Amino acid sequence: MNDSNRILSGMRSTNPRLHLGNYEGALRNWVDLQNKGFKMYCMVADLHALTTMYEESAEASRNAREVAKDFVAGGIDPSRSSVFVQSHVPEHSELHLLLSMITPLGWLERVPTYKEKQEDLGSAEREPYGLLGYPVLQSADILLYKPYGVPVGRDQAPHLEIGNDIAARFNRLYGREVFQPYKYLIPEDELRAKVPGLDMRKMSKSYDNCIYLSDTEDQTAAKIKQAFTTPTKIRLTDPGQPEGCAVCQYLRLYSPDWERQWEEDRQGLRGCSQNKKELTEILNEYLRPIRERRALLDDAAIEEILCRGAEEARGFASKTLAEVKSAMGMF
Ligand code: AMP
Repeated sequence: MNDSNRILSGMRSTNPRLHLGNYEGALRNWVDLQNKGFKMYCMVADLHALTTMYEESAEASRNAREVAKDFVAGGIDPSRSSVFVQSHVPEHSELHLLLSMITPLGWLERVPTYKEKQEDLGSAEREPYGLLGYPVLQSADILLYKPYGVPVGRDQAPHLEIGNDIAARFNRLYGREVFQPYKYLIPEDELRAKVPGLDMRKMSKSYDNCIYLSDTEDQTAAKIKQAFTTPTKIRLTDPGQPEGCAVCQYLRLYSPDWERQWEEDRQGLRGCSQNKKELTEILNEYLRPIRERRALLDDAAIEEILCRGAEEARGFASKTLAEVKSAMGMF
């Protein structure tokens, strides 16, 4: 029985800004859990970013500050939740090393995202060792906080499973119940668990199909204007297919009136430009408080939040690491 009141989750700092997919898939859940009284550990994963950005390591570190600003702008309250950068808490690296010794290689080679990334890189010469070990580092991130659960988008599910498998293997090998299984807190609504991008592929910075939380109102309007709609809907009266239209998908997420809008779209009673206009207004309204909070955060404020966050995180993580070493008989 896992009666922990802690939650750990993270986002990589491959980009300085979070998009709607990061928000709907994960951050929104973090805020809900925080408001329900869970102790949140909100991590910016700068070490994970290095798996693909090892040549731009300083940028990954600079980005980390901006991502942390988006956490706070999105509703994370640093007086209740710990916001920190992964590399500022060295226990993550140490537990990663120890867990890497007990993780069978086959478990890692089977991870679907590893196979995809491997194909992207094209040659084994360019493939860093860290890419294969990514889920082990992620497991260390999670297990250090002995969390009740980990709120993430659908794409992270295979990695989370490995963490629980490593934890069970650790407990078995060293004969102590140091770790308890944690839950995968993935949004029940499939659309939130995997938010489509402006081109209807998964929203992802690498596809350049994102609406960012910190986009201006005008940028958001311009992006929505260019968004993918029903290709066969040329005239207003042509029937639409909302299931395959990015604008209709976002209406479903953000508009209280989406069912009527979808029905009218289907019947050719409304045009794409009306959908786009209404979505722009609703989405800009939805993002307004996030943008306002972000505008108030300067660099000094975020450094202070991160400094305090790392101290709090270390306070818990160092105890877990000591327990791990003790179970292993290492002193
Ligand atoms: P990453 O940028 O890969 O570190 O992702 C940070 C978090 O955002 C993870 O919990 C992902 O599962 C989530 N996420 C990323 N893209 C999407 C998306 N398009 N829809 C839903 N969740 C997403």
